[in-house]
Amino acid sequence: MVVRGPSDVVDRWPMPTDPSQAVPGEDHPANAAIELPTRSTRRTCSEGAEALLGELMPVLDQGFVQVIDYMGDDFDIVQAARVSYGPSTKRVHNDRGLLRYLMRHRHTTPFEMCEVKFRCKMPIFVARQWIRHRTANVNEMSLRYSRAEDTFYVPAIEQITLQSRSNRQGRDGETAVPGELRARVRRLMTRRHEELYADYAALADELGIARELARSILPVSLYTQWIWKIDLHNLMHFLALRLDPHAQYEIRVYAEAMARFARAWVPLAWEAFTDYRLESASLSRLELRALSELLGGAPEDAAVERAGLKGRELREFREKLARIRATRA
Ligand SMILES: Cc1cc2nc3c(=O)[nH]c(=O)nc-3n(C[C@H](O)[C@H](O)[C@H](O)COP(=O)(O)OP(=O)(O)OC[C@H]3O[C@@H](n4cnc5c(N)ncnc54)[C@H](O)[C@@H]3O)c2cc1C
Repeated sequence: MVVRGPSDVVDRWPMPTDPSQAVPGEDHPANAAIELPTRSTRRTCSEGAEALLGELMPVLDQGFVQVIDYMGDDFDIVQAARVSYGPSTKRVHNDRGLLRYLMRHRHTTPFEMCEVKFRCKMPIFVARQWIRHRTANVNEMSLRYSRAEDTFYVPAIEQITLQSRSNRQGRDGETAVPGELRARVRRLMTRRHEELYADYAALADELGIARELARSILPVSLYTQWIWKIDLHNLMHFLALRLDPHAQYEIRVYAEAMARFARAWVPLAWEAFTDYRLESASLSRLELRALSELLGGAPEDAAVERAGLKGRELREFREKLARIRATRA
């Protein structure tokens, strides 16, 4: 058995030190195949997780997600459930069937037996959304101790869109934005970052002002980093919320990178999660009533009116109907 020192946790994987290479090109050493030390272990290993362990998954213009450790696999979930149900479940369910049963019936604690630890680099405004998920353990870099890197998020050209008129929280994905306007937005953001960073450097370096004060002029587009550890049940809750099209694009892409890992790590649990949560739909009492009218042959307008659906709730029901119709082969 290999006993690791505390610093191994972070130093174990290649890491770009030059901020301009935070998202490395193909020739960067961080993208080289990682030579894992050959070790024998008595721990559970997931083949899919092992293949992605340590890989730096680039996200946005300068961020990343990197899995630095994990515990457990599909079988650990099944095994935990069998402890509570007893050996007789072996006969009733195979592993996949049992996992699907657990997910369907929201028997969630067996999924908490698996854990994963990520190192992530994201803009501060993304971290603020992310930190709302309280069930993870977090350790964030501190700008009291270390000097801020000159690393700011500037959206890609195609992500620069107008404010949506119908959704106060979202972007207008339909109105075309002239290329010149998009380029101007990027120039404006970049210039502002340069000015602010120069002022920060003046405060922290030339004037010797405490870093904890100097940082207060930095914007929320500045990149931060943290180690984020969470169990599978809560990771799936996070992913269900943040993979959703209503989640902001800038956090959704982090969720997509984590989903890539989770799919490889626990393929059976992921399949059940996709079927019963991610790609499922829930129906309210009114929606069930409208659906029953529809199945009884009522025209759609009459069905929703009889059910009492209106406004935003009606729009959401129509979206669900469109999804249901789209699944027809
Ligand atoms: C699309 C979207 C838009 C959002 N918009 C806003 C916004 O405008 N403003 C804003 O402030 N937030 C916003 N949020 C954040 C949102 O309100 C939640 O805080 C966030 O999604 C975390 O969800 P959670 O509490 O379920 O997760 P977690 O904190 O991970 O908790 C998981 C579950 O544990 C339980 N739990 C955890 N802590 C407690 C507790 N203290 N008491 C009781 N139960 C607990 C709950 O069942 C909870 O669902 C938004 C989130 C999304 C996805």
